[in-house]
Amino acid sequence: MLLHTIKEVREQVKEWKKRGLVVGLVPTMGALHAGHLSLIKKAVERCDRVVVSVFVNPIQFCPGEDLDKYPRTLEADTKMCDDAGVSIVFAPSPNEMYGEGQISSNDFLTYVIPPFFYVNKLCGKSRVGHFDGVCTVVNKLFNIVQPDFAFFGQKDAQQLIIIKKMVKDLNIPVEIVPCPIVREESGLALSSRNKYLSDEDKKEALVLSKILNNINSCYKRGLTDVDALKETAYSFLNEHHELEYLEFMNQDDLEEVTIADNNTRVFIACKVGGVRLIDNILLGE
Ligand code: AMP
Repeated sequence: MLLHTIKEVREQVKEWKKRGLVVGLVPTMGALHAGHLSLIKKAVERCDRVVVSVFVNPIQFCPGEDLDKYPRTLEADTKMCDDAGVSIVFAPSPNEMYGEGQISSNDFLTYVIPPFFYVNKLCGKSRVGHFDGVCTVVNKLFNIVQPDFAFFGQKDAQQLIIIKKMVKDLNIPVEIVPCPIVREESGLALSSRNKYLSDEDKKEALVLSKILNNINSCYKRGLTDVDALKETAYSFLNEHHELEYLEFMNQDDLEEVTIADNNTRVFIACKVGGVRLIDNILLGE
């Protein structure tokens, strides 16, 4: 069932809750692929009723980013959700979510601001305000759907860590379920933004997973010094790649580490053909 208004979703959820049904939420920006589908399948397995939100959230895009050209494929998304057993696809307009005129300037909206320590690094460094937009919209979706479980991909590992922190700090009654990264056979992590890549770029984009896998192999052979592990990446890079960051962090609290262990997650962001791609790996996996 495709719904566009908050009121309709609330009414439906209220009825489910009266019957004691367990509700799951999968927040997405649409252009659904097998990565999203893995979250949806997990949600359908675990919950009696599943809501998938499809909303390209304007307030998490920074000036100059791809808000206008972000792929929008609602018809195909709805079909994929229906086939997977989703009860509601919630696809609100920006005005429905934020109220008319509320987001034309930053002056009117109440935001949820995650802690500086978690956002002044990795994607938060170049995408200033991005995680404020993410936390605000996810908090709103939690309030609208009131899910028992919400499903997030490890693909966006910094986002997942920040959402968990928000849920803990704000006592939001939802359990966050992390889901593993889904990749193409080549190793490329699935992303809606892969649609921007030419065939040539797609080959060059394999550099992200190659660097991460190579670092993991070196780690498994006993190399734990982070500077030395970082060094191994550079031979993979060429003029097609614009490396934004390669960082080693404790995966619970995003504290930077100098000696890697099994709780270290390696994060990479790299532009290929002008498209910004991210990936990560937990060492020892
Ligand atoms: P997005 O539509 O990009 O905002 O993603 C919605 C959700 O799907 C987020 O929790 C993402 O982490 C997750 N997701 C996106 N791509 C993948 C992937 N390749 N594997 C696992 N989860 C993913």
